Amino acid sequence: MASLIDGKAIASDLRTQLSADVAGLVKDHGVKPGLAVVLVGEDPASEVYVRSKSKQTVEVGMESFKHTLPTETSEQELLDLVARLNNDDTVHGILVQLPLPNHINEGRVIEAIDPAKDVDGFHPVNIGRLVAGEEALVPCTPQGCIILAKSAQADLTGCHAVIVGRSNIVGKPVAQLLLQENCTVTIAHSRTRDLPGLCATADLLVAAVGQPEMIRGDWVKPGAIVIDVGINRIPAPEKGEGKSRLVGDVKFDEALEVASAITPVPGGVGPMTIACLLKNTYQAALRIQGISELDC
Ligand code: NDP
Repeated sequence: MASLIDGKAIASDLRTQLSADVAGLVKDHGVKPGLAVVLVGEDPASEVYVRSKSKQTVEVGMESFKHTLPTETSEQELLDLVARLNNDDTVHGILVQLPLPNHINEGRVIEAIDPAKDVDGFHPVNIGRLVAGEEALVPCTPQGCIILAKSAQADLTGCHAVIVGRSNIVGKPVAQLLLQENCTVTIAHSRTRDLPGLCATADLLVAAVGQPEMIRGDWVKPGAIVIDVGINRIPAPEKGEGKSRLVGDVKFDEALEVASAITPVPGGVGPMTIACLLKNTYQAALRIQGISELDC
């Protein structure tokens, strides 16, 4: 039976550490990291994310700036706001909540963010630095995946890591980070042949597919570490009419019997994303102010 990788507890530890780091930065250097979150439109899921981000930002002692704009905001108005935030010394991190309304080009907005303040790590400069193995702001969910995998096995050197999913926000950056951890990395996707056979060779299996419970227990190599990024809502008639529940991309009960360690959904990768966003904001503040981590 696998041990559970408790993302909720690990994220909480990360936030506790960050609170202490932020307090030190304020006391010793007079710098309070600030995170600006921009929400355009009225997507209910995005509103929930933005509220959680702002709340947790304040809880670790950072400044939270929330900009809520109406759906009909033009691309130019959004670009003007980003430019103002780029030039605002009290803002060290800028996050534009995606998805944006259809009339706004997401790529153009992301590229307008100062790479030094791009705490989502989506700017092409940060992606390039990540691929080149240089200091970068690294996308939050992938960073969380690595922290969780390393909580199960501190040294991942030599592991065969199979990542199912090749999106820019999860699959590809996870692959780069695992390369940096000296894994041998295979990226699988919807055109991969014999996906079950490939997964069964993985010492570390990362599922970022968006297909509920697609990865079955007999796809998992005995003793593997399984990181389930998927968040899927499925009907749960057993809880009552019209009820639903969250599941990952992995058939949890089956994989639990085979793996050595596994992340649950919810309570695995999910809580790590905001914790890593706050970590990125802290690190962006240090770099922008020219303060070494050793001085904190
Ligand atoms: P995308 O839809 O952007 O990418 C999904 C990837 O899975 C694609 O590369 C696709 O392949 C691949 N795929 C789809 N179906 C199959 C299949 N049947 N067999 C093999 N590969 C397949 O999703 P994201 O990367 O954005 O997200 C993945 C999951 O992670 C989602 O459930 C999402 O909700 C969750 N998520 C969770 C986060 C968190 O915990 N905070 C943050 C971000 C995402 P192809 O490229 O060939 O189409």
